[in-house]
Amino acid sequence: MSTRFLRIVWLYPDLLSTYGDRGNLLVLAHRARNRGIEVEPVLVRSDQRIPSEADIYLIGGGEDGPQAGAAERLISDGGLNRAADAGKPILAICAGYQILGSSFYASGQSYPGAGILDLHSDRGETRAVGEVAGEADAHLPLGHITGFENHGGRTHLGEAVQPLARVTHGIGNDNGSTEGAWAGHVIGTYMHGPALARNPQLADLLLSWATGLPLNAMPQLDDSWPQQLRKERFDALVE
Ligand code: GLN
Repeated sequence: MSTRFLRIVWLYPDLLSTYGDRGNLLVLAHRARNRGIEVEPVLVRSDQRIPSEADIYLIGGGEDGPQAGAAERLISDGGLNRAADAGKPILAICAGYQILGSSFYASGQSYPGAGILDLHSDRGETRAVGEVAGEADAHLPLGHITGFENHGGRTHLGEAVQPLARVTHGIGNDNGSTEGAWAGHVIGTYMHGPALARNPQLADLLLSWATGLPLNAMPQLDDSWPQQLRKERFDALVE
């Protein structure tokens, strides 16, 4: 752990990058560099090993076929499980979120997941498509969170995880009650957007976990643009 250098791994951009997932890497790098922290982004394709020497791991969303392939690679590699066990921050979006659970549903069948989060996903009757917003778990300094969801699967949480948020708009995990999950330093969410562009406070939480710097010790950034985007999205929900 260092407060001056971060290696950020983006897993499987060749398979799971359908929804602007690179944006999450860019936002993290931008917010770290603006605070004097050097960043090395590492793109790990599905034919490469997952490095253990990294500070933050990102895994994105994708369609059913690539999702099943990514899960198989993730399980045979085992590197993300080791990273989670070592307490490394992990942000998993949508398909990436589902494959961290024990099982998920894709292309008409159930597949085993990596078992990093205590949850499983099955198939919904309809696709959940549209804005999703919620009030984050009180144990996390996130407040309101917002994103765009687009998933056919539904996710059911076990006892060893907490919901990331209580849903105020949209579907989230299942029926509009909870959205996402977290345990330790692992966060999974259905929010696209990319999630960190729409929720810079979530980016800062990951940076705080990775560096050990308390949130209030990190220099404030000019967040007028992301705040404007957040306001626009929240205003659109209540119109
Ligand atoms: N294929 C998964 C589903 O439809 C995940 C979709 C996504 O990543 N947006 O549930």
